[in-house]
Amino acid sequence: MEPLGDIGTFLIAQAEGGGDEGGSFLVSPALGLMFWTLLAFGVTMFVLSKLAFPRIGEALEKRANAIRENIEASERQREEAEKLLEEYRQRLREAVRLCVRLLGDPAFQAILEHRVSPTDAELASDAALDRWLLQTVTTSYHVSGTCKMGPDADPMAVVDQYCNVKGVQGLSVVDASIMPRIPRSGGCHATVLMIGERAVAFIEAALRQPTGV
Ligand SMILES: Cc1cc2nc3c(=O)[nH]c(=O)nc-3n(C[C@H](O)[C@H](O)[C@H](O)COP(=O)(O)OP(=O)(O)OC[C@H]3O[C@@H](n4cnc5c(N)ncnc54)[C@H](O)[C@@H]3O)c2cc1C
Repeated sequence: MEPLGDIGTFLIAQAEGGGDEGGSFLVSPALGLMFWTLLAFGVTMFVLSKLAFPRIGEALEKRANAIRENIEASERQREEAEKLLEEYRQRLREAVRLCVRLLGDPAFQAILEHRVSPTDAELASDAALDRWLLQTVTTSYHVSGTCKMGPDADPMAVVDQYCNVKGVQGLSVVDASIMPRIPRSGGCHATVLMIGERAVAFIEAALRQPTGV
């Protein structure tokens, strides 16, 4: 049997009526063990409530404040974005209505038969005009360069000089996305056609090889 140690010996001595001259208040080792366990638990909880819990509370409060500030900041950003969007909508409405007014000028009457779009109903209210704007407005950017061609040393390069996607066998990208930058002319169309023709030749040459993919 394992030696019980000081507390064990003390508890058993208490239970057997030994120890203090006034006799034991503990009637069995099990009750004694329970008493000391409860006492230790009580002391631990008291110390925790004085030392650790306030700190945990402070940390939680700090975190809650940070989250609250984040939410407030994103709400402010959302409100600013909404305001900006409304400004853009207002400017677009004004631009469309100005164009319609200009086209109503007698100077245009000889060359204009009638306005096709937006219709009078679409111009009748801001809400109707907003719906027309959402359906009609589009980007006029030369969308390109999202999947650029470049050497292995360039971490942003997606395809090699043969339009093959690096690290993937048998996959090529052949469109304006592989342009590292927009061609100087400002328009990409002719370059896209050239890319297409060159890529067809690369793919054809690869297919002709016995191991080509
Ligand atoms: C308003 C505007 C004006 C322009 N004016 C000029 C100009 O004057 N001169 C000039 O040189 N360039 C001009 N450009 C640029 C030029 O048109 C583009 O750079 C060029 O067309 C890009 O070619 P692309 O093959 O990469 O993409 P796109 O021409 O956009 O071709 C992509 C094709 O993929 C199809 N597609 C998309 N998703 C899928 C899918 N999941 N599955 C199957 N098919 C799909 C699309 O329907 C589309 O046919 C203009 C561009 C715009 C937007």
